[in-house]
Amino acid sequence: MKISKNTVVRFHYTLKSPEGELIEKSDEGQPKAYLHGTDGMTKGLEEAMEGKQAGDKFDVTVSPEEGYGLRRDNAMQRVPVKHLMGAKRWRPGMIANVNTDHGQRQVSIVKVGRFMADVDSNHPLAGKTLCFDIEVVDVREATDEEMSHGHAHGAGGHHH
Ligand code: ZN
Repeated sequence: MKISKNTVVRFHYTLKSPEGELIEKSDEGQPKAYLHGTDGMTKGLEEAMEGKQAGDKFDVTVSPEEGYGLRRDNAMQRVPVKHLMGAKRWRPGMIANVNTDHGQRQVSIVKVGRFMADVDSNHPLAGKTLCFDIEVVDVREATDEEMSHGHAHGAGGHHH
């Protein structure tokens, strides 16, 4: 089966900077799953996935515009430390999740005090060119439930 709209894709990835520095990768034996065409995947990566099938391996370079967007100036925000999710203690440079009106977002910690933290609300990968190494593990048709939720369920996908 080829990757097309409303298929659920499981894949391994390694994400590097253009200089070859490792940014993140999927866990060993735990491919990531997404619903092709609706799951809010990085646009440039999703386009490269189209038409591929299980076992395919390929590299794709994604520009900031097709990745996580360009960095915005004036993206500094002051938020209560208790709203930061993902760790107990925070240091500058760490990545936190925060809930916003637009859903959960990642921010970078710039400065942290006892009660308030200054964060950069640009996505940590904003403004970066992304070099992906992809291996497609499997492709299947999405279930009705997955299509109505707009994301993949099961291993590597969303858990409710
Ligand atoms: Zn769901």
